[in-house]
Amino acid sequence: MPVIVKDWMLVKGVVFRLESGLPSEAKFLLEDFRLAVNNAIRAGLQAHITSRNAMVEIAYRDFRQEHPRMYSQHLVSAFEVAGSVLKNHRKRVRKGVTCRIPYVKRLMMKAENQAYKLDRESGTIDLPIRAGCHVELRLVVSQYHRKYLDDMALSLGSLTVLPDRVVVAFRKDAPKLFVPESALSLDTNERSLDGVFVEGGVAKAVKADFPEVAIIQQRHHDRRKRLQKKKAHDRRTSRNLCRTEGAREHHRIDSRLHQVADSVLKFAEERRSAIVLEDLKGFKSKRSKELNRRLSLWPRRKLHQIIEYKAQWKGIPVVKVDPRNSSRTCPTCGRIQDSRMGTEFKCECGWHLDRHINASMNLLQTAISKGMAGGLRFNPGAFQHDVMMTLYEPAMAARSEPNGTSGIVGMT
Ligand SMILES: [Zn+2]
Repeated sequence: MPVIVKDWMLVKGVVFRLESGLPSEAKFLLEDFRLAVNNAIRAGLQAHITSRNAMVEIAYRDFRQEHPRMYSQHLVSAFEVAGSVLKNHRKRVRKGVTCRIPYVKRLMMKAENQAYKLDRESGTIDLPIRAGCHVELRLVVSQYHRKYLDDMALSLGSLTVLPDRVVVAFRKDAPKLFVPESALSLDTNERSLDGVFVEGGVAKAVKADFPEVAIIQQRHHDRRKRLQKKKAHDRRTSRNLCRTEGAREHHRIDSRLHQVADSVLKFAEERRSAIVLEDLKGFKSKRSKELNRRLSLWPRRKLHQIIEYKAQWKGIPVVKVDPRNSSRTCPTCGRIQDSRMGTEFKCECGWHLDRHINASMNLLQTAISKGMAGGLRFNPGAFQHDVMMTLYEPAMAARSEPNGTSGIVGMT
């Protein structure tokens, strides 16, 4: 997933498998790097600093002696990684979450772009270990990877080496957003995105269905509860089991959300649509605790995040609007209702429509009234009640091929 480095720079981490395992020199380097990161974390904590430069100043000489053989750029990069771990640690401490001294457990190393060479033609990385010692890493290059390797508008950022794979960061200037010719307004729900597509004064209903996300969440929640009960006498085991369960759950939901986002973006790109979404920030449900748990917001927030990042990479404008009253307002007469029960929105003025689609109309009207949707205009009366466009449905999951994207660029 692309990450915004500066306003104008986008970074996307692309995962590559290696043709053969990591050479032993590189394995040792990972261990040394982890050691250096953990030492730097301790040094930073003692001196109350988190910036890379400050750490270089106070600790570089000692580190040089402790790690005499490590390539100096890698050493500086270890300070950088330690710095980001410390910043997260400091944030947690400020929030009052008591936590232990942070410690990096997994084997990894990060090399800045000056500290490695990638031959984009052959897919070979030249990684310096120490003076006079380099290793060669041969990447498995698929068609998906070729897109990034061959696109010379993309420059290379950092390289993250893990025991079984590497992540290469590709960077590019943020593309200019296109001027929208249509709009795709989406109401985000637990099992679907529901909304309207508006083009040339005509509005049609659109839908992206992803019921499995909620099902997976529910199933794993139940299993977690059972595990906790069964292992109640052993808190550590139960915690570890839950963590593994959680990681698996996240992974499965994540890959489904990526598919949904891809279909939404493909649709928007082809029709030059601005995407309108509700702003979920600070959004808290007033429902009971039990319901809250089940309708956990994170997949929806995550879906928005993915859509926004990917849209930026493609230059598709995304508009976020305050969802207040969007499910209770009549888009034709403007009346606000007290309750929002039922699947159908009905108004005294005679307007009636699927509740979710109705909400998406209100989101779009908010965007238009605030001038956030270009010069687009929209009349709810022009809605075609008998048409439904499918952006995504579960059956599409089997057809889409897995992609190698992942969000691991940095270390947190
Ligand atoms: Zn009305």
